[in-house]
Amino acid sequence: MPVERTEHHELFKYYEVYETIGSGGFAKVKLGRHILTGENVAIKIMNKKDLGDDLPRVKVEIEAMKNLSHQHVCRLYQVIETSTQIFMVLEYCPGGELFDYIIAKDRLSEEETRVFFRQIVSAMAYVHSQGYAHRDLKPENLLIDEDHNLKLIDFGLCAKPKGGLGFELKTCCGSPAYAAPELIQGKAYIGSEADVWSMGVLLFALLCGYLPFDDDNCMVLYRKITRGTYENPRWLSPGSVLLLNQMMQMDPKRRLSVRHLLDHPWVMKDYNSPVEWHSRQPLGHIDEDCITEMAVNMKRSRASTTALVKEWRYDQTTATYLLLLSKKQRGKPVRLCLEPTACEDSCSPLHQGLQTREALHFSEDEDAVIVGSLEFCSDYIDDCPWVSVANNKDMRLASPSVEKKCVYSSTPERGRTTAQHRQERRDRDQGQTSENKENIAVQEKDVEIFALPPPRTPASSKKNARPNKNVLTTPNQNANVNGTKTNAVTPKGGGSASKEPNKKRAAEFKELANVEILAFSPERRSRSLDMAVTGDSGKKKRGGKVFGSLERGLDKMITMLTPSKKRALRVGPRKIKVQYNVTLTSQTNPDQVLNQILSILPEKNVDFTQKGYTLKCRTWGDFGKVTMAFELEVCLLQRPEVVGIRRQRLKGDAWVYKHLVEDILSTSSI
Ligand code: ADP
Repeated sequence: MPVERTEHHELFKYYEVYETIGSGGFAKVKLGRHILTGENVAIKIMNKKDLGDDLPRVKVEIEAMKNLSHQHVCRLYQVIETSTQIFMVLEYCPGGELFDYIIAKDRLSEEETRVFFRQIVSAMAYVHSQGYAHRDLKPENLLIDEDHNLKLIDFGLCAKPKGGLGFELKTCCGSPAYAAPELIQGKAYIGSEADVWSMGVLLFALLCGYLPFDDDNCMVLYRKITRGTYENPRWLSPGSVLLLNQMMQMDPKRRLSVRHLLDHPWVMKDYNSPVEWHSRQPLGHIDEDCITEMAVNMKRSRASTTALVKEWRYDQTTATYLLLLSKKQRGKPVRLCLEPTACEDSCSPLHQGLQTREALHFSEDEDAVIVGSLEFCSDYIDDCPWVSVANNKDMRLASPSVEKKCVYSSTPERGRTTAQHRQERRDRDQGQTSENKENIAVQEKDVEIFALPPPRTPASSKKNARPNKNVLTTPNQNANVNGTKTNAVTPKGGGSASKEPNKKRAAEFKELANVEILAFSPERRSRSLDMAVTGDSGKKKRGGKVFGSLERGLDKMITMLTPSKKRALRVGPRKIKVQYNVTLTSQTNPDQVLNQILSILPEKNVDFTQKGYTLKCRTWGDFGKVTMAFELEVCLLQRPEVVGIRRQRLKGDAWVYKHLVEDILSTSSI
């Protein structure tokens, strides 16, 4: 058995793993499906060797996420650690990054901004109440879930001062454009105050579509931040201008606190109620329905199942419990996928195009669809309390052509697929709606670091919150409105989006500190600057991604991905509806469009692999590292009946990506 499989066996035992949906500095994130509940998850995969000095950052992130449970914080379900890899199984947010949402829409209206901002305030009030400062707040770290609500991610730079949030921190970290002046100046700072500054920058980005302080040259950027002056565009209402000013106050003591934000007049407008910040899913709460379902299937008593869940080991037990709870909270039956009919709705989209018994490898191919083979899974089934399958033949990895349903077993005890058991389940499900509400209304026992007003209204409103699917972007539409500079793209060797090794970046930071103003050559203009210095934690910190202007860009696919395998097998181009990550052409012949793009990619130094009408593109940096990865897919649109090009950024700086794709599409003269 190949080593890589051994390394991933724990993962494959419980999850089906699909395509890459994102990648960060060190992690690749793949779409997955928790076999037992049929729920979609995001699997963050990190190679320990690649993490190097940043391994502690991952540990910090895991510890923080274990301690946080809130409707606007991405939930951690399970952590699997092998000798070489760390897998974090997370709540899946199919809507993509808030960053991409903003650039796709140019900027958001005040009303839509308010919906999102209330959720950000809710998340931050909760995070602060738990004693944490996030320290890397930016729209790339807010994901959109299936209900169009925000979820905060990336706690790798968070801090939990031992003496409480009022204690000063020293580590300068995060993304410079969002960093408070006291951080830039290297002063000791209060984490929650610095977070409010970043929230101000974020609010500005939502309302304006670009950053208040921006420059390619870090020293110039720092000067702008420490001067604290920014221009308010004419479309901002007086109320917005005032709130931004109150948040981006140079003196942290004069800055608004999150507590003040909860019932700030701007935040309350149209709601007439403060932000609800308490967790609707308090840590440690035990849901009886989930316990019952698990107890039945584990053939344990409810008491011992409860005891097992209460260990909160972030193993398969925790994941199963939390995913069942998530199902319940979304009004789905609290059921494990043991019967062919148990989770049809949640399983079917992911299963399309997958082949039963197909063993796909875990490869570097971004598009690999990975499914643990039956043979492979069976190696581990015996010692897995969750998959008490007597016979391999009873397991199915579903495919529409073979079996539309989830993994199931036909052993009598396992499925309890008798009419009696089904009736028990139905009875339980019927009593569910009211219990759901009760469960959601349970008050948490959070440790409050500061006194906050009690929650009164839901923070999330779906009002004005749906993405505007009619927004079309064409390469030329993505014009730069505030006149900020455009970066020359040097796809090969340009390395402008590359994450350099820490040491090199730390040295670069020192160098920058000594040189007043340093013009970056394209090669050196890494947008990810490590602001690493040792401080409160004594650990090296990785700088976040730094995006320059949040100009209209080409964005990533926001809807759930179709399994790539299916795409690869298709003979013709896909027929899709117009969505805002699709560029319309005036042409009607998809092959002609495809050929035009194919001829232009080598000219732009873009490597690609072709699968049908999908081109998986990459650019490389100086040291053989992939600096940019994205997909271009030629597809047919229905209304109007023309050829479209779907774009999706998988890796790399959004700004550089925007220009590269614009360049490719305009040169292709389509
Ligand atoms: P890193 O810590 O290496 O920066 P991130 O946690 O930022 O990695 O994840 C990288 C990207 O993967 C994100 O920007 C996002 O696009 C995607 N991603 C991360 N977590 C999720 C999730 N829970 N659901 C959907 N996509 C995710």
